[in-house]
Amino acid sequence: MTRQKIHGSEQVRQSRSIERLVAGKPTSDGAGVKLTRVLTQPLQRRLDPFLMLDAFASDNPDDYIAGFPAHPHRGFETVTYMIAGRMQHRDSAGHEGLLENGGVQWMTAGRGVIHSEIPQQEAGVMEGFQLWLNLPARDKMSAPWYRDFAAAELPRFETEVGVGVTVIAGESHGVAGAVTREVTAPLYLDLQLPAGTRFDQPLPAGHNAFVYVYRGEVRIGGETLPAQRMAILGNEAEADGVVIEATGDARALLIAGRPLNEAIAQYGPFVMNTDQEIYQALNDFRDGRLA
Ligand code: MN
Repeated sequence: MTRQKIHGSEQVRQSRSIERLVAGKPTSDGAGVKLTRVLTQPLQRRLDPFLMLDAFASDNPDDYIAGFPAHPHRGFETVTYMIAGRMQHRDSAGHEGLLENGGVQWMTAGRGVIHSEIPQQEAGVMEGFQLWLNLPARDKMSAPWYRDFAAAELPRFETEVGVGVTVIAGESHGVAGAVTREVTAPLYLDLQLPAGTRFDQPLPAGHNAFVYVYRGEVRIGGETLPAQRMAILGNEAEADGVVIEATGDARALLIAGRPLNEAIAQYGPFVMNTDQEIYQALNDFRDGRLA
């Protein structure tokens, strides 16, 4: 694991505040995997360029064992981050990989893939997240792309006060993430905050941002963000970033990106700009032209 102490780290003068707390909706997807949809369709405009965040966490195999058998995607990217568990990925572009504890799988569906995501364990805890990141109109029909990052391959650093930061995407305190994207400039951090520490992350005011706490609780702008809640951060012009403070030990995802401000047309696993493009995706899938 790449661990480096960062000194003279970036400070935020004024933190964004919590605009809204979101509990998410318990649901099931794939062949009956129980999960919480934290970022739901009604929040897609507010959190543009992000389309969805699912959180799954269970030690009951019945909740996850059937996985996600073959299904299509077009028009966006899926980012799966596994905290605990093992999941096998296979897709129609010929990519295959085993996602394990602490690993990330980044898949650009582009013009289309058919893939399966199947648990490789019959017991134990499966915990993780799947984030959907939109593609700009110009890239929606691009060639599919895929990459696996084992935990040890993910850039990671520790701040002076001992906050552990895994940089899945973007850049934080001078450390470049595993993946960068030009148009949406996504920032995706997993923060391990020991009790009593704070973490500063500069953010451009125009970028939409949210924090999801999955262990303990944190404080942002004097307000408490409890576990299993997402805080949508305000885009206050006077704020230059976010300050996250941990009273007890906490783990949280900080996700931000530049909005596309393009029309969003979604039908299940297809996300395009117009209804016409959705009909095209459905036709292409039906006629075997999607992948
Ligand atoms: Mn999928």
